[in-house]
Amino acid sequence: MIRKQMYIDGKWVDAASGNKREVLNPFDASVIAEVPEGDREDSRAAISAARRAFDKDGWPQTPAVERARLLFKLADLIERDREELAELESLDTGKTVEESRWDMDDIAGIFRYFAGLADKDGGEVIESPIPDSTSTVVREPVGVCGQISPWNYPLLQASWKMAPALAAGCTIVMKPSEITPLTTIKVTELAEEAGFPKGVINTVLGPGAEVGAELSENNDVDLISFTGGISTGKTIMRAAAGNVKKVALELGGKNPNIIFDDADFDLVIDYALNGVFFHAGQICSAGTRIMVQDGVYDKFIAALKERMERIVVGNGFDEKTQMGPLISAEHLSKVESYIEIAKEEGAQLVLGGCRPDNPALQKGYFYMPTLFVNCENDMRIVQEEVFGPVITVERFKTEEEVIERANSTIYGLSAGFWTRDPDRIERVSKALRFGTVWANDFNVYFVQAPWGGYKQSGFGRELGRIGLEEYTEVKHIFRNHKTTPLNWFGA
Ligand code: NAD
Repeated sequence: MIRKQMYIDGKWVDAASGNKREVLNPFDASVIAEVPEGDREDSRAAISAARRAFDKDGWPQTPAVERARLLFKLADLIERDREELAELESLDTGKTVEESRWDMDDIAGIFRYFAGLADKDGGEVIESPIPDSTSTVVREPVGVCGQISPWNYPLLQASWKMAPALAAGCTIVMKPSEITPLTTIKVTELAEEAGFPKGVINTVLGPGAEVGAELSENNDVDLISFTGGISTGKTIMRAAAGNVKKVALELGGKNPNIIFDDADFDLVIDYALNGVFFHAGQICSAGTRIMVQDGVYDKFIAALKERMERIVVGNGFDEKTQMGPLISAEHLSKVESYIEIAKEEGAQLVLGGCRPDNPALQKGYFYMPTLFVNCENDMRIVQEEVFGPVITVERFKTEEEVIERANSTIYGLSAGFWTRDPDRIERVSKALRFGTVWANDFNVYFVQAPWGGYKQSGFGRELGRIGLEEYTEVKHIFRNHKTTPLNWFGA
């Protein structure tokens, strides 16, 4: 059994209350770890350490090259401990170890990318209209950042926040999801080994409504960055109003994958599956809403069903496994409730809709790959984020019709479409109102490009240059070299 503590002001500590939480393995509900269950008091201690590190200890004034050096070192340590981190992530989330290894490689790359950007922006001299003056625009760190991450990609989502904030010169209080804290704790250990000064990185553990709520409300926090569900995002936005904190929200998605008649059929099937079943569909950008043009509709469903029947569901630590369990018993019942809703709405179930009958999987939170066809735009199963291995398929006739339907959602995270027509690629890329649009691909992301949502999928962007800028304030410095008397008032 793993026993860990949280990290506040350079020290590993238990919760002030002494409370503990058991962390469960979604594969069989066994207890894998015991961690402190913090509350508002622990959050406040972490915030004041981060405040002091920012205001008094000189982290923002640390030369950017030195901040970069520490981030590069952290990336090297992540690479050194890649296998341990990947196994921890799979223990905590149930996803296959192979998926977790990809995550760890991405994460090392994210720290390197932002380390590389840290010393690249020396500000800008602008042309001043006033004689004998200099006008410069510089970026400065925002301050103390509260960072709240979800359970589906625990360390990946945390790294999207930690790396740019630290590169920009901010200090941070990171709060991982209470059900998947292990890799964030491990990376905090690696950050300590890399040599980050005390108070710069603090990792607090505990429930969102306590630890996370304090981060969102506390007046000593300058920015709150959150990845998670829409309703939590709205609560955080309201809570942040107290001191008009900067807010960045990466919320959910219901992402259309649109297949036109002229698409390369074999590729489409392959990518439709990849777009959904990684991590059992618990991906904010999962392409679970598939829209297929009339001419290939029946052929598509037959081919998709055949491949879905062969998906190997099992233990993420077994090399043959292609899809692991859902994250928790609570989430499993949410997914199950959506299956009932879909049936009541008239969606036609052609595969799955049940838990596996394999006796080896009965203790875990497994759910079978599920396919609903003949779905309609206004069904809840089509409009709401299920966050599980559940595909809905809708039929469409024309480009205009499918654009209108794909855009008729409160979400706007990502969308993909498939066609061989270059003019259509231009038109549809522009017409879809989503933060990321993939033409002839699905679920591609990389650190160099920004990530974030339109509409209720949130605001602010992570990754890319803009991901660093989110952690900066813009300052205009005007310097007059020859100030002359005005002799105006009362002269
Ligand atoms: P969640 O909203 O339940 O929890 C996310 C985090 O918020 C957790 O750390 C939780 O403890 C904390 N939290 C809960 N209540 C809080 C409160 N009142 N104040 C402050 N913090 C609080 O989300 P989840 O179930 O962990 O994650 C799944 C959701 O995350 C899905 O909707 C998914 O689409 C979304 N997500 C979005 C992206 C993206 O890039 N847009 C990426 C991954 C996940």
